[in-house]
Amino acid sequence: MNWNLIGHEPAVRLLKEHIKQGNLRQAYLLTGPQGIGKRTLALRIVQAVNCQQPAGDGEPCYQCRSCQQIERMQHPDLSIIQAEQVAGSLKVDQIRDLQRSLSLAPYEANYRAGILLRFEEASAGAANALLKTLEEPPARVILILTAENSELLLPTIVSRCEVIRLRPASIEQAAQGLQQHWGIAPEQAQLLAHISGGRVGYALQLYQSPEQMEQRQIWLDDLHRLLTAGRVERFAYASRLSSDKNYKETLQAVLPVWISLWRDVLLVAAGASTPVTNLDRRDEIEAAAGRLGIEGARCAIQALERTLHLLSRNVNARLSLEVLMLDLPVL
Ligand SMILES: [Zn+2]
Repeated sequence: MNWNLIGHEPAVRLLKEHIKQGNLRQAYLLTGPQGIGKRTLALRIVQAVNCQQPAGDGEPCYQCRSCQQIERMQHPDLSIIQAEQVAGSLKVDQIRDLQRSLSLAPYEANYRAGILLRFEEASAGAANALLKTLEEPPARVILILTAENSELLLPTIVSRCEVIRLRPASIEQAAQGLQQHWGIAPEQAQLLAHISGGRVGYALQLYQSPEQMEQRQIWLDDLHRLLTAGRVERFAYASRLSSDKNYKETLQAVLPVWISLWRDVLLVAAGASTPVTNLDRRDEIEAAAGRLGIEGARCAIQALERTLHLLSRNVNARLSLEVLMLDLPVL
């Protein structure tokens, strides 16, 4: 049994060993890209230690009240905190509230649990406040932090956690899992597995919100149009995108979609046997690969990644987008 997860076998094996040997760590840090399943795994850990009728050591039943409340993230001994918005800031007051509830004895569970999502968004004050808890953790408390990358966190935090790096499932495994666990039709499961690159959480998010899939199509259509557009149209597009109120969030979503398309172009141009991500855009990808070749695809990827990087460093969005528009290849 793999905790009803698709992929993540090494992580589950390790965690079960900790539970079986009574060697549970006070704090875990789960890392990996967005949508890979960090939160789900965190909830599984809490279920595994707090299940009321486990099938064995570290084998939650998923049926008891405790398992179900944890699944719904509404258990009296479970606190989950995160920055209010994506790319926002996790505040010191949220850590203080968490510390208060962790200092009480468990209400009904074996362990009180604190799950701190997207901890890279913690303010310096919040990170330092948490450090106190990590240095002197209360008894019968388990903390689980998640972050995209441990390098984004204070080294003093990381060194006090057992770090578990999560990797995407293989495309095949993800596609099969989506069919078996979620009853998704084979063709759609394949597409979702490819688009998500084996990040099952992201695949499910797309599945459950058709508008996100639609948005992806719109962005890919935009890119397709931009490639044959002149400078004026490209600049108008940049200006429209960067004047959006949530432009940073939008760009952080749109640029990876474009990068994934150019990676496909690169793969096809290089004649690689690796499957493309954007299965439904195969014709476009082949056309661009034929026209622009490996070098063109590489330039586009570099330009897009540079823009993403600049945005993460709060560089003027409009300016960096305009530069991107000049750098994107012309078909
Ligand atoms: Zn249970």
